[in-house]
Amino acid sequence: MFPFQFTKAPDEASALAAAASGARYIAGGTTLVDLMRETVERPAAIVDINALPYRDIDLQATRLRVGSLVRMSELATHQGVRSQFPVIAQALELSASAQIRNMASIGGNLMQRPRCLYFRDVSAACNRRVPGSGCAAIEGRNRTHAILGTSDSCVATHPSDLAVALTALDAVVITRDSSGEHRIPLSDFFRRPGGTPDQEHNLSAGGLIVGIEMPVVPEGRRSGYVKVRDRESFEFALASAAVGLDIAAGKVRAARVAVGGVGTVPWRLPAVEQALVDRTAGPDLWREAASHAADGAKPLSENGFKVELVKRTVERQLATVAGLP
Ligand code: SF4
Repeated sequence: MFPFQFTKAPDEASALAAAASGARYIAGGTTLVDLMRETVERPAAIVDINALPYRDIDLQATRLRVGSLVRMSELATHQGVRSQFPVIAQALELSASAQIRNMASIGGNLMQRPRCLYFRDVSAACNRRVPGSGCAAIEGRNRTHAILGTSDSCVATHPSDLAVALTALDAVVITRDSSGEHRIPLSDFFRRPGGTPDQEHNLSAGGLIVGIEMPVVPEGRRSGYVKVRDRESFEFALASAAVGLDIAAGKVRAARVAVGGVGTVPWRLPAVEQALVDRTAGPDLWREAASHAADGAKPLSENGFKVELVKRTVERQLATVAGLP
C-alpha cells in the first residue's frame, strides 16, 4: 500500500472543503479500498464521510427518499421498501454477500468502478484507468462485457444492480457541491463511454451524493429483479432485468423495464415498455415485447450469447412479475 492522508469530516462543509483540495470520499470502503490495494486508484488523501447525516429512509405516500449513507442491508430489509419497491430489495440482495451489504453505502454502490479484468490489472491497456492507453478487452477476453452503449474506447458493463432497479423507477440522484443542491435523473447521471470512458458520471468535481429519490408508483409494488450469472454465489450479472408492471383487468396499464450486465450504463428499454402498454397480459406478449430487449446490440468476439440471453431474461422476468399477486 502507498502512503495517503486520512481525515474524518465532522460535517458537510468539511467534507466539501476536503474534496475541493483533492481528497476522495470514503464511506463503506468496499470499492475504494480494494482498488487502492490493487493500486488501480492512488488517492493522496481520503475523507471519511460516515459522520454526515445522510442515514434516513423516508417513505411517504408519493415518494421514497434514501440517504446516501444508508447501508445496502438497511435498505434491503426496510419493510416499506420491501412492499412498495420489491425490485430494490431484490437487486440489493442479489448484489453482494451479507458482509458487503452491511458495509457498503447506497451512494458508494452508485459510484462503483467497472469490474473489467483489464481495468483491475495495472499492467493492461485500459482507457478508463489511463486515458489514451487503449482497450485490451476489445480484442481480448470480452465474454462478460457490454453489447449496448459501447464505443471504440471502452466496452465495460456497468456493475451496479441497484442502479438498474433505480433506472427503471425514474430515480433522481441528489447531490451537493459548493454551488448548492442539484437533482440529476439517474438516466442522466451515468455517462456512456464515448471517447472519454474515464468520465463515468455527471457528478461535479468534489460533488457529494446526499441521497436518492423516486416516486411511489403502482409498477413499484408489482416489481422484481432477476440476475443471470455464471455462479449462484455472489457474482456480477451476465444479464439482469428490473421489471415493474401495472396490470388491471388483464391488460398492462404501465410498464418499467431496465437491464443490467449488457450495457455500459444501466439500460432502460423504452421499446419493450411501449410494446407492453395497453396490451393483453400473457406469454405471447412477454415474448413479443422482450424481442426488443437487445435492439441496437453490438456483440464482441466472445459475448454474442448475451443477445439471446437478455431477451430471455426479460421475457422470464415479465412472466414472473405478472404472476405476482
Ligand atoms: Fe478499460 Fe473499458 Fe477496455 Fe475494460 S473495456 S479495458 S474498462 S477501456
